[in-house]
Amino acid sequence: MGADRFALSTTSTYGCEVTTTAVSDRPLVRQRERMAGMSLARHAARSDLSGGRGPKTRRWSGLKPGIPFVLLHVACVAVVLVGVSPVAIGVAAFTYVTRAFGITAFYHRCFSHRAFKVPRPVQLVGAVLGAAAAQRGPLWWVAHHREHHRYTDRPGDPHSPRNDGLLGAHLLWLFDAKNQPTRLHNVTDLAKFREMRLLDRYHHLVPVTTAVATFGLGALLGDLWPSLHTSAWQMLVWGFVVSTVLLYHSTFAVNSLAHRFGQRRFATRDDSRNNWLVSLLTLGEGWHNNHHRFPACARQGLSRTELDPTWLGIRVLAALGLAHDLRPVPSWAVQAARQGPATANAELQAPPAIRTDSPALGPS
Ligand SMILES: [Zn+2]
Ligand SMILES: [Zn+2]
Repeated sequence: MGADRFALSTTSTYGCEVTTTAVSDRPLVRQRERMAGMSLARHAARSDLSGGRGPKTRRWSGLKPGIPFVLLHVACVAVVLVGVSPVAIGVAAFTYVTRAFGITAFYHRCFSHRAFKVPRPVQLVGAVLGAAAAQRGPLWWVAHHREHHRYTDRPGDPHSPRNDGLLGAHLLWLFDAKNQPTRLHNVTDLAKFREMRLLDRYHHLVPVTTAVATFGLGALLGDLWPSLHTSAWQMLVWGFVVSTVLLYHSTFAVNSLAHRFGQRRFATRDDSRNNWLVSLLTLGEGWHNNHHRFPACARQGLSRTELDPTWLGIRVLAALGLAHDLRPVPSWAVQAARQGPATANAELQAPPAIRTDSPALGPS
């Protein structure tokens, strides 16, 4: 893949309105691509992630990730066996919110759209947090999400209620054999990092470790403080199983409900909607029509009533020096949001699209 092709892909897939790769950056981009290309080839060969053309790819390969998915849902029934305690609910809330932030801030806004930059160690921590949500590795997740933005609600979109129905866009797409390989050509900027390739390859170890940690925490608390009325099994069920399943469906609701139900502020070419309920469950990702209009902007809720906890979290990271170059939403869009739904489709009177600096190709 040449540098020009790469620049085009960067622009059209996750650019914030108009993004360009500066001409002076191209030798650097080519060098990075060459290095990434060699590593990618190895990664693809080892993981059968070559785009579905490898000999190991089978039609039924989509059923494999379905097994733990189904088992986790069945395991939720165990809440009646293990009981409940305030501390177990508290841990479940903690694992839900922290892993949701890993998905929304890192997998989505930082990795998929380069909406802000982070130092390399922070990138790794964010990727591990996201991987703990058991939604596969960062390369697979980002590659499919970029495909979603490239073909939103058109043929080629991995998950669209218009193409696949509500249930298909919500979860059935996950088990389609054609969606199993990582589309590596979409993630050359991320795959050049060895730790990201390793994490993608061994992504299942992170949720397994999380499950073991909740089990161990429950055993410890039950032993040391019996008055907490918790146990290893109770903590595993609430802190990992229930929390993971809830996080599955809130994340998936962005792909299904937020493309079918809600308000459309901007006349995008897709079916994306602003859905307050989905936003509430996903730390602000339900302002999905805003997001499809400004995909590479770090903020998705555009007014005070459009709560966007992920944006607040990113600002906290920035205040601590752990994130920088947060891409802003154009002021005219924030203004339009303040004036309410009467100004819907305000982009028709909007000034020309903003230009941003060349997109980051990795952490600073
Ligand atoms: Zn969407
Ligand atoms: Zn997105």
